[in-house]
Amino acid sequence: MATIITAATSATSGPLQLRASSIPRFVRCPASETLPQVKNTSDAARLGTVVHLACENIVHERDTDLEALALLHDVPLPELKHLYFGARALWEEYGHFFPNPRTELEYVQNCSTHVEPHPEDFLLSGHADIVSHPDEKTVCIADWKSGRGEGDYGPQLKTYALLAYIHALTRDAETPLERVYAAIFWLRERQIEGQWFEAGVLLDWFRELQRAVVRAAEGELVVGAHCTHCPVANCPAFKTRAWSLMPVNAEMEVTDENALTVYETLKAFKKKADDALQLVEQHIRQNGPIDTPDGKQLTFRETTRESIVPRIDVMQHLSANIPAELVLDAMSFSKTKLMDALTADAPRGTKKQVIEETMAQLRKMGAVEQSTSTLLAIVKKET
Ligand code: SF4
Repeated sequence: MATIITAATSATSGPLQLRASSIPRFVRCPASETLPQVKNTSDAARLGTVVHLACENIVHERDTDLEALALLHDVPLPELKHLYFGARALWEEYGHFFPNPRTELEYVQNCSTHVEPHPEDFLLSGHADIVSHPDEKTVCIADWKSGRGEGDYGPQLKTYALLAYIHALTRDAETPLERVYAAIFWLRERQIEGQWFEAGVLLDWFRELQRAVVRAAEGELVVGAHCTHCPVANCPAFKTRAWSLMPVNAEMEVTDENALTVYETLKAFKKKADDALQLVEQHIRQNGPIDTPDGKQLTFRETTRESIVPRIDVMQHLSANIPAELVLDAMSFSKTKLMDALTADAPRGTKKQVIEETMAQLRKMGAVEQSTSTLLAIVKKET
């Protein structure tokens, strides 16, 4: 399904408005928050919204009718189920770190740089999915993430922690807040990424944001890997960089010095080209085929693939005609779907163990195969 990109919004007037979710890009390219942006209402974004509704129910121990939710919001049920079970498994394992949780809390803080010679006001906001106060000196915050984690989410975590910290300062509490724990629950991978922040670190981070606001006012645009998901429309800096790489085959030599820049820029360019192609698809879906000058049409071509349902009776039938090993060789299971099915009704707190034991048993039976593919990517250095 298509990513829908709506008309460009105008650049904000008045104080700069910064969302915690934009901070990782903002600190790298400050002026990206001052230029007109396109609103991305992709399927992934819609799925994320629906998953958050279901996750809130998990935290408050309420049931969720996943089928009804998927139907109502037109999102794929298998993916919703996978993410939902991921959230349940994580909450069962880590939920006790978040006693008396509150959910879906919006923090909004008015801030000022007070940095000469460019004093700027800015508005810092963020939406915390889970907030808990285990004791008077501590706040724990968590954010559900249904996407595939690309990039560094440290600045976002630090900004959630900062928002909670500033909020606590304005509460006039008797005991000052000393530390904030901020975590991301990665639903696909069923992993948690969390960090403790002390007050000093958060104040340093606030100063860094203040400096970035000043850099934004100065129009500082920085091209890099963060351009890939940047919603800015028609960024002049990115266009100049991308255009400079277009004659890559004809004139430009890729060297140790420029390979990283070429890779990051082309990756971002490919994402933007994919988004543009989805706009063309959306147009044709809505308005019908376009005639080409040579009498053909730009339209959708349907291709149908058949797959065989791996049922016992199907296996028996096939085994009567071809050797059983060949039938089995042609079959494969979806590990994700199997594990979801296995743990769907498992008692609370036992899901991880059920998966580990099943996988250990399957390994012992020689029923687990690994395949390796090679992909160019930016990864942590081996030490
Ligand atoms: S495309 Fe890149 S350089 Fe341009 S505003 Fe976005 S992040 Fe900055």
